Amino acid sequence: MAGSSSVATTVPFADLHSQYLSIKDQIDHALSEVIRTSAFIRGPFVQKFEEEFAAAIGMKHCVSCANGTDSLYIAMRAFGVKPGDEVIVPAHTWISTSETVTQAGGKVVFCDTDDTYTIDPAQIEAKITPRTVGIIPVHLYGQPADMDPIMAIAAKHKLWVLEDCAQAHLARYKGRMIGTFGAAASFSFYPGKNLGAMGDAGAVLTDDAALAGRMAMIARHGGLVKGDHQVEGINSRLDGLQAAVLSVKLPHLAGWTTRRQEIAAEYGRLLAGVAGLGLPSVANGREHVYHLYVVRHELRDELAKHLSSRGIQTVINYPVALPFLPAYRYLGHQPADFPVAYRNQSRVLSLPIFPEMTAAQIRAVADALKSFV
Ligand SMILES: *Cc1c(COP(=O)(O)O)cnc(C)c1O
Repeated sequence: MAGSSSVATTVPFADLHSQYLSIKDQIDHALSEVIRTSAFIRGPFVQKFEEEFAAAIGMKHCVSCANGTDSLYIAMRAFGVKPGDEVIVPAHTWISTSETVTQAGGKVVFCDTDDTYTIDPAQIEAKITPRTVGIIPVHLYGQPADMDPIMAIAAKHKLWVLEDCAQAHLARYKGRMIGTFGAAASFSFYPGKNLGAMGDAGAVLTDDAALAGRMAMIARHGGLVKGDHQVEGINSRLDGLQAAVLSVKLPHLAGWTTRRQEIAAEYGRLLAGVAGLGLPSVANGREHVYHLYVVRHELRDELAKHLSSRGIQTVINYPVALPFLPAYRYLGHQPADFPVAYRNQSRVLSLPIFPEMTAAQIRAVADALKSFV
């Protein structure tokens, strides 16, 4: 009603439109250039973004593709994964990480996560068998996995490492950019990711020219020259419109990342000491880029309902850890096999975080959380 002064601040989980508005002229111009030149498939916009993104991460080769899931699959096909090969993946992540192992012909072997929500290096060696060929650490929620011990284990057992960087663009581990540790690094540019297109998009990076060539081949029906198919591949392309959008956004990514980190720090200040609430724990030497700001609470579902009633949108990433999904029932796992992932799946709650978030929105989320008793 007119005169009512207590209009609650509603907070969306993310706000892609406000990001678009902040760079609208550049985006509109880039899109119209692609349309004007009909550079829809391959062409200069795709090549430009591949070069820019490889340089931004500090790798020599970028093979762009249709989405982040394909980038994992393409890398594993290029590694030569074959039936019987075992690949170790964290128990609590998005299913792309594991389903592509199976698609590439391998066998998924889950490993529990730790306090940082990333794979627990102390448990990896127990999962290694003579058939193990690789490890896929996931820099989940934006925090780097513990790469030093992971790389040491991989070297000792002669395994490849494929970094799943879908949630962690520009994150650093001991000062070094993630995506530069493994034989290859997979990225997603799904619209909601820290660097997001206006549709699906992905890429895989490597320093190995021969591997990059094989990956490009797999992504292009198994042949780089029309009519000359060396193997069966897939059709996975970054299209020109998405590449142009990504080239516009890439120079803004560092600033947006800083904003995410500032918002996380503000959440940390406002939420410190709230009873029963577990804040993200960031390990020494790891620079978190807060794709997601994930808290833990024993009454997670009630908390989510409470926040929703106050106009705060939250998401659960992910409500069922992979080994306990129907898709992996065939592996016969029990909760006791992955106690940390099992405990976290019923406690994690992702709060709104996006670079354009206002101080009032951050405060509204914190106030709503504090009013939950
Ligand atoms: C988003 C995501 C992917 C896959 O990316 P898409 O572009 O959606 O296919 C893979 N792994 C993780 C951890 C992700 O969050």
